[in-house]
Amino acid sequence: AFQHLEQAPEDPILGVTVAYNKDPSPVKLNLGVGAYRTEEGKPLVLDVVRQAEELLIQDRSRYKEYIPIAGLVEFNKLSAKLILGDGSPAIGEKRVATAQCLTGTGSLRVGAEFLSKHYSQHIIYIPVPTWGNHPKIFNLGGLSVKTYRYYDPRTSGLDYEGMLEDLHAAPPGAIVLLHACAHNPTGVDPTQDQWEGIRQLIRLKGLLPFFDSAYQGFASGSLDADAYSVRLFVGDGGECLIAQSFAKNMGLYGERVGALSIVCRSATVATRVESQLKLVIRPMYSSPPIHGASIVATILSDRNLYYNWTVELKNMADRIISMRHQLYDALKARGTPGDWSHIIKQIGMFTFTGLNKDQVSFMTAEYHIYLTSDGRISMAGLSSKTVPHLADAIHAAVLR
Ligand code: PMP
Repeated sequence: AFQHLEQAPEDPILGVTVAYNKDPSPVKLNLGVGAYRTEEGKPLVLDVVRQAEELLIQDRSRYKEYIPIAGLVEFNKLSAKLILGDGSPAIGEKRVATAQCLTGTGSLRVGAEFLSKHYSQHIIYIPVPTWGNHPKIFNLGGLSVKTYRYYDPRTSGLDYEGMLEDLHAAPPGAIVLLHACAHNPTGVDPTQDQWEGIRQLIRLKGLLPFFDSAYQGFASGSLDADAYSVRLFVGDGGECLIAQSFAKNMGLYGERVGALSIVCRSATVATRVESQLKLVIRPMYSSPPIHGASIVATILSDRNLYYNWTVELKNMADRIISMRHQLYDALKARGTPGDWSHIIKQIGMFTFTGLNKDQVSFMTAEYHIYLTSDGRISMAGLSSKTVPHLADAIHAAVLR
């Protein structure tokens, strides 16, 4: 039945790791996938996560029963509070419907299917560039994808005017995908003033914001600072959707834990929205997994664990920021042609280097350094020991 099938291409991001794994070189370096690594290049399980898991294992009253379709109630409450902030009026007024989903990706997908079923407008605007999975998730979720200008290669910064123009031209009610912070792949975020301008335009035109929050706390080291954009929009009393991931900020990648929150106009609407979310989820995967959400709920509900988490989170964010400075300094020291200040200006896990496809292939072939062909490097995959090797490779690639 399947003889006609062609071999599908590797995922552009995960395929980088496949190629890396095949390379026998001892100096090989994987800067493709966005996963945190220690100075020693090892994956990290946070101490608070280990502690929470100990508590869960010791508690013999816990079962592996199915959890509700919309996930753990406690987890949902705590997740909404984390992104919207303590004392958020939207939460106080019970206007937020939250469903635990399979991390950022699953939350985006459930959100898309909910919108395609229940929202009057099916067009979603996504930035150029954006995380490569966005257009696929939204298309398969039943939405029709259009783009807005975002990154300006001439300034290595935000094309603010272009973004506003494109959103201004969007049809009424169109959905707008916004990266809450640490835009992937560019690391370029709007300033607070620009966020305000974007908010005014979106509200004026009656567009519907859909936030993708995959890096709260990971960008600046502060959970509150990284939630600025979302809270600005929710603060005006309007509606929005938020897809939240705990993959990066709690290092729970493989546990697949996240949440979709829909901020509604009233408590009655939120109750109905939640009931409809369950109808989207039930035939998709019935109910979400229990373990990761229990870890998150344990940490977020315990004062000490929460505090220790913020410390560990800040350590990860600071190490990434320090890698930015070390790489910048190493290129300056080599006199590599070009202005590399964007390396220290960009925010979050990635640097959008500006290296082109040929330069990337050269670095992979000659230096065994693996990154996506758009020149994005995961700063979390670097260490003090590997910065010189990367700087040598970039220097050689630029001088070719
Ligand atoms: N959105 C963005 C912008 C991302 O960078 C990622 C992770 N690469 C995700 C969503 C979702 O990741 P996950 O499904 O692992 O939470």
